[in-house]
Amino acid sequence: MIYQGESIRVDFIEPGFAELQFDAKGSVNKFDQATLEEFSEALTKLQNTDDLRGVIVTSSKSTFIVGADITEFLTLFSDQEKTRSWVAKASRVFDQLEDLPVPTVGAVKGFALGGGCEALLACDYRVADTTATIGLPEVKLGLIPGFGGTMRLPRVIGPDNALEWITTGKNNKAEDALKVGAIDAVVEPENLTKAALNLAKAAAAGQQDWKAKRQPKLEPLKANDTELMMTLVTAKGLIAAKAGKHYPAPHKALEAIENGAREHREGALKAENNAFFDLTQTDACQAQVGIFLADQAVKSKSKKYAKAATKEIKTAGVLGAGIMGGGIAYQSALKGVPAVMKDIKQDALDLGMKEAGKILKKGVERGKVNNEKMIKILSSITPTLLNEAVKDVDIVVEAVVENPKVKGSVLAEIEGVIGDDAILTSNTSTISITELAKNLKRPEKFCGMHFFNPVHKMPLVEIIRGEKTSDDTVNAVVAYALKLGKTPIVVNDCPGFLVNRVLFPYLAGFAGMVDEGVDFVGIDKVMEKQFGWPMGPAYLSDVVGIDTADHCTVVMEAGFPTRMKRDESSAIAKLAAAERYGQKNGKGFYVYGTDKKGKPTKEADPATYELLGCEQGKKLDADEVIARCMIPMVNEVVRCLEEDIVGSAAEADMALLYGLGFPPFRGGPFRYLETLGMENFIQLADKYAHLGEIYQVTDGMREMAKAGKSYFD
Ligand code: NAD
Repeated sequence: MIYQGESIRVDFIEPGFAELQFDAKGSVNKFDQATLEEFSEALTKLQNTDDLRGVIVTSSKSTFIVGADITEFLTLFSDQEKTRSWVAKASRVFDQLEDLPVPTVGAVKGFALGGGCEALLACDYRVADTTATIGLPEVKLGLIPGFGGTMRLPRVIGPDNALEWITTGKNNKAEDALKVGAIDAVVEPENLTKAALNLAKAAAAGQQDWKAKRQPKLEPLKANDTELMMTLVTAKGLIAAKAGKHYPAPHKALEAIENGAREHREGALKAENNAFFDLTQTDACQAQVGIFLADQAVKSKSKKYAKAATKEIKTAGVLGAGIMGGGIAYQSALKGVPAVMKDIKQDALDLGMKEAGKILKKGVERGKVNNEKMIKILSSITPTLLNEAVKDVDIVVEAVVENPKVKGSVLAEIEGVIGDDAILTSNTSTISITELAKNLKRPEKFCGMHFFNPVHKMPLVEIIRGEKTSDDTVNAVVAYALKLGKTPIVVNDCPGFLVNRVLFPYLAGFAGMVDEGVDFVGIDKVMEKQFGWPMGPAYLSDVVGIDTADHCTVVMEAGFPTRMKRDESSAIAKLAAAERYGQKNGKGFYVYGTDKKGKPTKEADPATYELLGCEQGKKLDADEVIARCMIPMVNEVVRCLEEDIVGSAAEADMALLYGLGFPPFRGGPFRYLETLGMENFIQLADKYAHLGEIYQVTDGMREMAKAGKSYFD
């Protein structure tokens, strides 16, 4: 044995040829700080091993190396000195591999991502099996490759391909990696180790010029000035268009490649180290790493619920074939759970089926679904006008109109039809589940299952536990949501639950400015372009439906009479009274139509200004617009955590990200609060406290700030 560590072992596989094998204790290999240390020790041993002729780098797992250990990042990056030395040291370890005095061959199976891919790039040759996926996804974490990836990849596959890989962070299958020269051969899984060893032997025997293969990685990039300039200019344009100003990582990747292009290895690595360090100190990186960690936490929590489920959902019933019911029936059928779709109107059923057909047709056009599958999915949705048709299903999702009385009677009626063991859920957006349960005989078998629109695209499903909902019911519904390919987040009951409860104070903050005469178009621009929401608050209200939003304010007021008091003179109420319902009837804040080419249009309407008494072009400072919309949202989400509506800051962040499209580079409302600094937020909120209760921070937050605590502790 040449070396034996906790995660790495090195031994001769044949006389003269050593195998450095990643063999971590957990299910996957990753470059945590301890493994990097071992990697260096193992390579030092190899450097000092006599009679060495070649080295192959392998993994004992079904996958090569998944990358760095992201759970270490936030703590590490909060210490600038440690971060700098970690980056510089890590780069040197990969140089050690590249500098071994013998030919080196990486053998890849499964994932070789981030640091895993960079370890391969430091080898002279790379052999992959057919299961391999290779890539540098660091930009998705607001980072760039930091173990030599920006230096080596352009020298291996050329700057254009490398820029594409690095700035998009895409995964590449073995065949595609072979085409661009990122790997040298693809073999069947059973031949992987042998193929890598044979290549090392051939190189050692002089049949392959391994020194020539290594040399370009030690030198400046081989591209003439014009070629390089063209590549960089094109990439800059693409990055500006795709990533925009809120995501610094792709821009920094290009900067590192540009600054390192005319340098030898050491200079190019310095350029990479500097760019990497700069990114570790950005809010976007903290936010994107935060999202990764929160997503992991949410996934593992929902897996636990699902594992405990005693009832498997094999068939579903959906009440209402409208926008939501149609979408839920489609999603269920798509994921292999046949759905009976019940409505009181034949027209609605026809429309529901037509919409499902439309989505599937798009899938067929994109090659994602074939005709046979399309027919199979459509035929597993059974449209019906009869309650009786749902009597044998395992779960019912009620998605009829948002009216407590209608829902109450529909739910009670259907409870009498379904089996005693069946689960009943409601897709209500705002109405308390505990209240709805009062109409039921089996409240323990009832909970909320709040999907988002459009159902087939939006990942979040809020699962709402009413006062009497049993654990068994929650477990089974979480398992069903996972089956549908969604991200379930379990919350406790209150009007609006989590997502809509925090949305309404945000919309109220917006409406307050419009009531003061501020132009809603300007507010939308700030909230979209500067804050980063996919839609500003006026446009969002139009998409949700002004009538729906207005109706919800009644429910929210009933739940939170002082904080969310309904104001008849506010913009939403005025638009609703004027029957400007938003996109659904072509006019809300904006007017909607189509241009000559049939493309949808959205324009500001002079009639809206007249109705609302606001002034076209009247602006507030962008920071004030952001503060007045976002303080109420952050305050409300904090209240939800304090009141145990949501279990953790991580779940709240993911819920708003997946349910409302909270800008990922801000990481969610709690991460946003963290990057702003709680003290700064409180100071800002206090400035606006006179505007009403929604601007007033909780005592709990003041105490947290005083104690220097974080919601993520
Ligand atoms: P919709 O008006 O498009 O559809 C409601 C459907 O229910 C109609 O087809 C109607 O004919 C049918 N219906 C009425 N009474 C019925 C009954 N007794 N039995 C069966 N069907 C009946 O409404 P929608 O937008 O799909 O909303 C449905 C529910 O989903 C509401 O509770 C709403 O709050 C909630 N929701 C809506 C959205 C959204 O963005 N639209 C998002 C999340 C949740």
